[in-house]
Amino acid sequence: MLRLYNTLSKTKEEFKPIDPGKVGMYNCGPTVYDYAHIGNLNAFLVADILRRQLEYNGYEVRQIMNITDVGHLTADDVNQADTGEDKMLKAVKRENKTPADIADFYTEKFFEDLKKLNIKKAAYYPRATAHIPQMIKIISGLIERGLAYEINGNVFYDIAKFSGYGKLSGKKIEDLKVGARLEEHPDKKNPWDFALWLKAPKEHILKWKSPWSLGYPGWHIECSAMSMEYLGETLDIHTGGEDHIFPHHENEIAQSEGFTGKKFSNYWLHNRFLLIDGAKMSKSKGNFYALKDIEEKGYIPMTFRLLILGSHYRSNLNFTENGIEQAKNNFKKISDWINNLENISQNIENPLPAEIDFSYIYLKRFEEAMNDDLNTPLALSVLYELITETNKLLTENKLGEKNAKNILVFWKKINKVFGLIIEKNITEIPAEISALAKERKIIRENKDFKKSDELREKIEKRGYTVEDLKNNNYLIKKL
Ligand code: AMP
Ligand code: ZN
Repeated sequence: MLRLYNTLSKTKEEFKPIDPGKVGMYNCGPTVYDYAHIGNLNAFLVADILRRQLEYNGYEVRQIMNITDVGHLTADDVNQADTGEDKMLKAVKRENKTPADIADFYTEKFFEDLKKLNIKKAAYYPRATAHIPQMIKIISGLIERGLAYEINGNVFYDIAKFSGYGKLSGKKIEDLKVGARLEEHPDKKNPWDFALWLKAPKEHILKWKSPWSLGYPGWHIECSAMSMEYLGETLDIHTGGEDHIFPHHENEIAQSEGFTGKKFSNYWLHNRFLLIDGAKMSKSKGNFYALKDIEEKGYIPMTFRLLILGSHYRSNLNFTENGIEQAKNNFKKISDWINNLENISQNIENPLPAEIDFSYIYLKRFEEAMNDDLNTPLALSVLYELITETNKLLTENKLGEKNAKNILVFWKKINKVFGLIIEKNITEIPAEISALAKERKIIRENKDFKKSDELREKIEKRGYTVEDLKNNNYLIKKL
């Protein structure tokens, strides 16, 4: 039974999809105006791990992630994020390219990062600019229902009219009144209202016709439009980083539920922020990393994936040099373990007589950890425990071919969720070498050690060696 912490109820709930066996999941995706930073990638990795765990539990997941190529303004922290420059337009000025070129370039880079991190492809990555008609339809509906108003070609959501406002973030309109500034937009009736559509100033490049003005959408409306377009009016799961709880997701609820009259999403999952050396990432502080920066420091993307797995998505991961170095060592530990097991399961002769499969106990513990709100650090600790146990058995020559195979089956199962790509370093043993080793074993059983040494030399001349184990077992290795 999968339990997930729902930001809406503020409790861990048993996950129950709308349609048995199927899950519709929407993840807030990247704003493609720059390289994704490792905080963004953290959010996408969490979505990937959630999807994989749902699939592990037998669900068929339809995952949709948007690409924001218009309308995400820079002053996100300020009240309703209606102010500041459009992030896309900022990049247009910086790089002297068209908005479409900027979006294409960084979308491509985003997909490259996903591939490097072994993040599964969503069913679809809709782009905001391709869904303006759907946004206009919702905005028109909200005006008809008296939840939104138009002034001078601008449309705002009158949040006081939506009784459920604040149910996700816990914010009350009274709280919003404190510190809200009316001068943010002169046409707003109330400072806490948020923009659905804005009339474009002359110099604004991205603009579309609408019943109200030649303009552009507010940031929040795109996610209501695209999620409902591809997943229907009620989603099973909606995810994003904690910064999105307010205002983005609170506003998505107001827009979607105001329009359909139905519940928008049954489960809301939010990952805590990744910090760098204990601080928020920002370009001005110079602590802003993209995946390529980490690669340049000598860490492969899988190290970053493992680092993310090592921390629970609902706690702040503090990115430090020490932490990633530790993840690198752990990744090597896992890789060596897998390769050892592969070699044993393929190349060892004479399985040990009584081998009892013990991996299922670990599998049960892994499942319990992951089904308890995706407790990846606990699930990883179960794996590390198994590695320690197997390595001990290996040194004592108590791990035979059969158990090595069982453990590899266990690994393949859990790695469907972890999603780590381990480079194989398996020794393929030619038949001739196997035959020589077998011959040598018989000779050793007959205690003809001179002949046995000659055969060892013969094997070594061909680039292999035999390691003698207890009970006359042996392991062939490449020199
Ligand atoms: P954006 O491109 O700004 O819309 O962000 C894409 C996703 O990354 C959103 O779900 C954000 O909440 C998330 N995000 C942004 N910064 C961080 C961070 N430092 N740590 C974790 N998630 C983040
Ligand atoms: Zn969104």
